[in-house]
Amino acid sequence: NKIYDMLIIGGGPIGLACGVEAGKAGLDYVIVEKGALTNSIFNYPINMTFFSTSDRLEMADIPFMSIGNKPNRTEALEYYRRIFSHFDLNVKLYEAVQILEKKDELFHIKTSKGKYQAKNVVLATGFYDLPNLMNIPGEDLPKVQHYYKEPWPFINQKIVVVGGANSAVDAALECWRKGAEVSMVLLEEEVDQAVKYWVRPDIVNRIKEGSIKAFTKSRLKEIRAHEVVISTPEGEVTIENDFVLAMTGYKPNFGLLNQLGVKLSEDEKCQPQYDEHTHETNVQGVYLAGVVCGGLNTREFFIENSVVHAGMIVKDIVEKVKRK
Ligand code: FAD
Repeated sequence: NKIYDMLIIGGGPIGLACGVEAGKAGLDYVIVEKGALTNSIFNYPINMTFFSTSDRLEMADIPFMSIGNKPNRTEALEYYRRIFSHFDLNVKLYEAVQILEKKDELFHIKTSKGKYQAKNVVLATGFYDLPNLMNIPGEDLPKVQHYYKEPWPFINQKIVVVGGANSAVDAALECWRKGAEVSMVLLEEEVDQAVKYWVRPDIVNRIKEGSIKAFTKSRLKEIRAHEVVISTPEGEVTIENDFVLAMTGYKPNFGLLNQLGVKLSEDEKCQPQYDEHTHETNVQGVYLAGVVCGGLNTREFFIENSVVHAGMIVKDIVEKVKRK
């Protein structure tokens, strides 16, 4: 049975960056991705624009060309496809890692398609697979969506957008511009200050002029087939409703980390513990890369500031190999 120096879980931007660095260092590696290449980006809203300019997303000295300063989803998908083909990365797609075990210094990995053995494992699993649920009655109705793709299904429909951050604001504006009747339900008093600086005035003005109704300091209480109940500071309000877009954020899947015994911080962040110079966790040979490093604080890391994890991890693994 072949033994890899490094098995990387997740074929997102940072998993790919780890593959590039591993290849350059002459390590025998494999990337295992449960969906399509850069599956999270593939699942983003079709018309999304990154908040980063394309030059800041570049990796491995490969230029990232985009028509505007900030790339869109298609341009990003194409960039990472070119990274994949340029470096001839060893990626297995549509293969989910299910079980991870460490026995005698070696990792035994079971996936939906087969088995692997590796000396080191890198978790670059991101945070986009598990939505933060509202845990309210009716959340499981088919009209409730936790991933927004495009506005066309909502023309002439009464929709509620839950949340006040980037995903919620983008969805609300786009649907309103295509003729949806949009109400937003926000926990806070106003739209999140971290909303993209060139988008925020647009939503603030639409709310101010009454084009989009915002229930602030409020929460969705119940979803029914044709209406929703909202708890507001003035009491409960029931409004007619066709669709709910729950843009309540996402969280990392801690399942694989727990299987291996990686420690999480005990505060509300549940941040996995790792050495900040090497990104190795308390379990020897287990490394973390990309946004998963932030735990529930999903804003701490993004592509721009986590591409560097790849170089740190590969350097440490190469030094270990030399020491042996
Ligand atoms: P991901 O891209 O999420 O990759 C993780 C991969 O792991 C996924 O492909 C997933 O399918 C795979 N995976 C998970 N579990 C398993 C398993 N068990 N087995 C196999 N594979 C598995 N960041 C920026 O820097 N700039 C931006 O402008 C920006 N805009 C964003 C806009 C949106 C709408 C969102 C949601 C995020 C944005 N981010 C941005 C953050 C950015 O998406 C993430 O930083 C980036 O995707 C993180 O890369 P990653 O490789 O760490 O994780």
